[in-house]
Amino acid sequence: MPDTIQGPKGCLTMSTDTHSKLFDLMTEMGHEQVLFSNDPASGYRGIIAIHSTVLGPAVGGTRVWNYASADEALIDALRLSRGMTYKCAVAGLPWGGGKSIVIADNRTMDREKVFRAHGRFVERLGGRYVTAEDVGTSPADMELIALETSHVGGLAGKGGDPSPWTALGVFRAMQAAAKYRWGSDDLGGKRVAIQGCGNVGYNLAKELNAAGAELIVSDVDPQKTKRAAEAFKATAVSPEEIYSADADVFAPCALGATINDQTIPQLKVSIVCGAANNQLLEDRHGDELEERSIIYVPDYVANSGGVLSGGADLFGWSEGKVRTAVLGIYDTVLSIFAIAEREAIATYRASDGLAEQRLRDQVKAPLASDQHAR
Ligand code: NAD
Repeated sequence: MPDTIQGPKGCLTMSTDTHSKLFDLMTEMGHEQVLFSNDPASGYRGIIAIHSTVLGPAVGGTRVWNYASADEALIDALRLSRGMTYKCAVAGLPWGGGKSIVIADNRTMDREKVFRAHGRFVERLGGRYVTAEDVGTSPADMELIALETSHVGGLAGKGGDPSPWTALGVFRAMQAAAKYRWGSDDLGGKRVAIQGCGNVGYNLAKELNAAGAELIVSDVDPQKTKRAAEAFKATAVSPEEIYSADADVFAPCALGATINDQTIPQLKVSIVCGAANNQLLEDRHGDELEERSIIYVPDYVANSGGVLSGGADLFGWSEGKVRTAVLGIYDTVLSIFAIAEREAIATYRASDGLAEQRLRDQVKAPLASDQHAR
């Protein structure tokens, strides 16, 4: 066997162990399937990663990002889809985890052609994977996908934009962390530093402002920072300054991996609770937060409001039912803190352990909101 394989017309040389490495990675992370799709007519290049269908069809949004390399996009797809499996298991939903990545430039892509191509590939999976919005996509994009497949949520008139639900869920998670930390879930007068004033960050700022919290906001897009600062009388700081802000809570609502060796020493907060997926660069950063007595609300628990709103699309839940489920994140967070305390482990380990146990036992756990209807 040669070390490399020459592609057609000599245009590609590929190391023969590229795919072995991918299989090893899938085995290590527990993935069932990874689909690479290409539609030159539309410029569509996509990856659909299905992590698990043990508890039900794999759900997870479609992210559009102009990745520097396909490897980067693949790693994101693998990490994000695994996160969805854990998120659904802890939320008590009968769904597995998946994620799509569309590698494209959001500013120049032909949205109709690209999303219809994506919809056709989703359709070919026959319902094993159901998509919705994520970074870089909107309900209007989901309508385009829906022209080709019924396996799509977040449609206008049904689940709609999940971001306000995600924001409400982060707010509830933050209240639970406050209760655990300070004995009261009143966020009035607490200082919250929000990183990223996009769909979720802005809606979170709205919830927190209504609850009387003082806000510090930051976005790489100065217009978004300004909009949030003006709407909520927040203090605007630069993207670099947000980590060292004099605050009680840090809410990462931009991209992942922001809790790392460089940022942890800068944090002055007591709680980290936000919407971004994969906030910890590595697991050990969750342990480090614990060692510094900073309470970390596991990202996929804090941000599960969006996936819970998918109940409207897939189960026909009323708005009231979705709201009750999202409010139930408060109880879920407190139950994870209780496990962490009982077993003397970091909160992310408690949450991962709960998800893994449910996957092992194939438990479709009742929603916290069903147990504690408000
Ligand atoms: P969005 O694209 O609307 O907002 C993200 C914002 O972060 C943008 O305004 C962007 O300019 C800003 N940003 C990027 N890098 C930054 C940096 N270094 N510092 C400050 N700001 C920066 O996305 P969104 O829908 O609000 O999602 C935010 C995060 O929450 C993402 O990680 C997403 O995966 C996660 N999430 C979103 C949902 C949802 O319902 N939208 C659900 C679950 C998880």
